[in-house]
Amino acid sequence: MRSPAAELALIAEADRRAARYLDGVTDARVFPDAGALAGLARFDEPLPDEGLDAASTLALLDEAGSPATAVSNGPRYFGFVVGASLPAAAAAERLAAAWDQCASSFDNSPACATIEKVAARWVLEALDLPRGAAVGFGTSATACAIGALAAARRTLLARQGWNLDEDGLAGAPPVRVVATASAHVTMKKALRLLGFGLSKVEFAPVDDRARVIPEAMPPLDGRTLLCLQAGEVNTGEFDPFAEIVPRARAAGAWVHVDGAFGLWARASRTRRDLTEGVEGADSWTTDGHKWLNTPYDGAMTICRDPQALAGAMNADAAYFTAAPDAQKNLNLEFSRRPRGLPIWAALRTLGRRGVAEMVDRHCAQAARLAEGLRGAGYEVLNRVVLNQVLARAGNDERTIAIREAAQAGGEIWFSPTIWQGRPAFRLSVSSWWTTDADIETAIGVLARLKREIG
Ligand SMILES: *Cc1c(COP(=O)(O)O)cnc(C)c1O
Repeated sequence: MRSPAAELALIAEADRRAARYLDGVTDARVFPDAGALAGLARFDEPLPDEGLDAASTLALLDEAGSPATAVSNGPRYFGFVVGASLPAAAAAERLAAAWDQCASSFDNSPACATIEKVAARWVLEALDLPRGAAVGFGTSATACAIGALAAARRTLLARQGWNLDEDGLAGAPPVRVVATASAHVTMKKALRLLGFGLSKVEFAPVDDRARVIPEAMPPLDGRTLLCLQAGEVNTGEFDPFAEIVPRARAAGAWVHVDGAFGLWARASRTRRDLTEGVEGADSWTTDGHKWLNTPYDGAMTICRDPQALAGAMNADAAYFTAAPDAQKNLNLEFSRRPRGLPIWAALRTLGRRGVAEMVDRHCAQAARLAEGLRGAGYEVLNRVVLNQVLARAGNDERTIAIREAAQAGGEIWFSPTIWQGRPAFRLSVSSWWTTDADIETAIGVLARLKREIG
């Protein structure tokens, strides 16, 4: 039986614990220590026959779970391109959890459909992409890429007179895929899942900054799906869209751009030039949960021709009429959370200027980080055009040892990577919490380890 008082007390307790967690984030170890990791054994319980009480469930989650988190929602986590959660976006997510909407269409949730429509318009304005494009709010850049590539293939086949929905892939005319050789592993996953075998993909050679070399690209034609990249994960570099995209479009190819984090450079003042020509593409994917600092999981499929995306992803049932731009017709998910809500809240509270300022600040902090690392004797391997700093220390052994020592120390955390066949490490500046002082802390930690280890 429902007990509103008990329910409210439980939610209030969750909020209290969440607030205490966030309050400790600035001083916390960035990665759990051995004790906290050992505490995870408390979760190893048998499935209870009778349900246990909710308060103890929440307490266990907080007492054993919270200390064993990677504190990526904080100032000194530089791993992958994880980003943190802006307060307004996190707050919107909390309220939406109380709503528990199935945000498939206007009929399912008038509030969510209306707000996500505004969020879609704002995303196109912030990123300066064609205002008539469709924006689907999906779970991840990976899932969104599956939608975009499915729309691309269906369109390229339709142009050859083939009805993919009715006739499937067997016997269909070929669709070629040309993709940057530095495509993210999840782009390869999306291509694999859709049945584009990786040995059939024609990978376009890239330069030493991981950008496609226009002169070395395979020929493009009206059967080609071209996959480019805005923001390579190691170097932060962009393909030369202004050179390639018009050529590809003239040839009748479909151009998709993976801009999981990098597309947000287009919202900045100082880095916008890197994205020149990207607006000419047919589809784009980007994340909210990386550089826009919205909670997981929130990402976007953006498609110039709304019908191309809605046609591929259409989930209208005979018994149910939905607007042609209903979110269930733009994403993999049918029942879904309103993933556009935190994105709406982030954009509303940052404004155009706030997005630009955050991106510009992170880029400036990355430049300072690179300067500090060079000063400490590290080899910085990229140009640091964006928010990614790629580095090495002398030889492979020292590079690995320093990274492991930094991770064990708990003051900062960053990811290993392989660059041109050899170990390196990478720091990404992508959390709104990160201050200039945090950057100096990171430089200090790495300078000390360089002296101690080599
Ligand atoms: C993170 C990333 C992806 C995948 O994004 P998810 O939201 O994690 O699925 C794709 N491309 C690039 C360049 C990325 O950095």
